[in-house]
Amino acid sequence: MTGQWQEQVSLKPYNTFGIDVKARYFSQARNDLHVRQALSQAQRLALPVLVIGGGSNLLLTRDIDALVLHMASQGRRVLSDDGEHVVVEAEAGEPWHPFVQWTLAQGFCGLENLSLIPGTVGAAPMQNVGAYGVEIKDVFVGLTALDRETGELRDFALADCAFGYRDSVFKRNPGRWLILRVRFALSRTLHAHLDYGPVRQRLAEQGVTEPTAQAISDAICSIRREKLPDPAELGNAGSFFKNPVVSAECVARIRAQYPGVVAYPQADGQVKLAAGWLIEQAGWKGYREGDAGVHRLQSLVLVNHGQASGAQMHALARRIQADILERFGVELEMEPNLY
Ligand SMILES: Cc1cc2nc3c(=O)[nH]c(=O)nc-3n(C[C@H](O)[C@H](O)[C@H](O)COP(=O)(O)OP(=O)(O)OC[C@H]3O[C@@H](n4cnc5c(N)ncnc54)[C@H](O)[C@@H]3O)c2cc1C
Repeated sequence: MTGQWQEQVSLKPYNTFGIDVKARYFSQARNDLHVRQALSQAQRLALPVLVIGGGSNLLLTRDIDALVLHMASQGRRVLSDDGEHVVVEAEAGEPWHPFVQWTLAQGFCGLENLSLIPGTVGAAPMQNVGAYGVEIKDVFVGLTALDRETGELRDFALADCAFGYRDSVFKRNPGRWLILRVRFALSRTLHAHLDYGPVRQRLAEQGVTEPTAQAISDAICSIRREKLPDPAELGNAGSFFKNPVVSAECVARIRAQYPGVVAYPQADGQVKLAAGWLIEQAGWKGYREGDAGVHRLQSLVLVNHGQASGAQMHALARRIQADILERFGVELEMEPNLY
């Protein structure tokens, strides 16, 4: 089946929301040649192409009248090693968490805080994945992407990627760049980031006084397993909305009415608000409309209780956005990619 096309394939197993839409055509790419062959055949047929990895950041609202190209390329390697600093590279289709665990098993530090994020290596730069005070931009050295407009390969260095909060040049130019492989600069010495959320506290509870990168990873995995629903049991795409960044005046206005507003001042004078807090204050936590709902413990996570359609999930998201705008004057932006 590799490299071949199937018709009318259900995408339910290929998106963590578990939305049952069909792809007109579906194919897996296990290497660069498969990618090129699929793109040129699609071009001959004037078919759009949707590239997917683990489907953990997608909201599919309709059947996809396109070729859905599932990145399944595998491979990870050490490109350089001076005894302290290493550069590792992984193919786009490598599942992210096993890749992180592989780096830790080699004694390489840097990706531990990003443990247990679903999805693939190739999609991680799309929104500059981040968790527990670290984003991939902190350890990123480069990637190789195929320019779908010209068919040429291009290497991107850190400065070329315009990484921001859940943002990158790749996300801003949807469909232009197909990421083939990504490179990270890691080190044998741990530079621990323990101050975000309950990481330090969890390590203390576990009796860990001098944490290794693996211990930090284990602590973060245990926190994440408690906090976030497992998509295998309850369809979801992680955080559904980005934390909005607003002006200091806006926060002052909200604080006058809600003294407990959760707000993080930014270097540029703006303030990041916790979207989950806003949604919870507005009373949406645990809300359910048919099979589309808001998680009972995590207001930032929308969930599919079984048979919700993507359109129903999207309708719920829009109602929440409208309510938050009306109550707080704050616009919430969706994090998953909508198709
Ligand atoms: C339970 C849960 C927890 C999560 N926690 C976090 C978290 O802590 N931090 C965080 O940042 N995210 C988190 N996410 C979101 C998601 O896991 C990440 O965004 C992940 O990087 C998506 O990878 P994917 O392979 O599943 O991408 P997909 O969902 O398949 O695709 C996402 C986007 O990238 C594009 N794309 C995919 N592969 C490629 C490629 N090779 N080249 C070009 N474009 C490509 C797709 O077209 C799509 O637009 C979470 C999701 C879930 C379900």
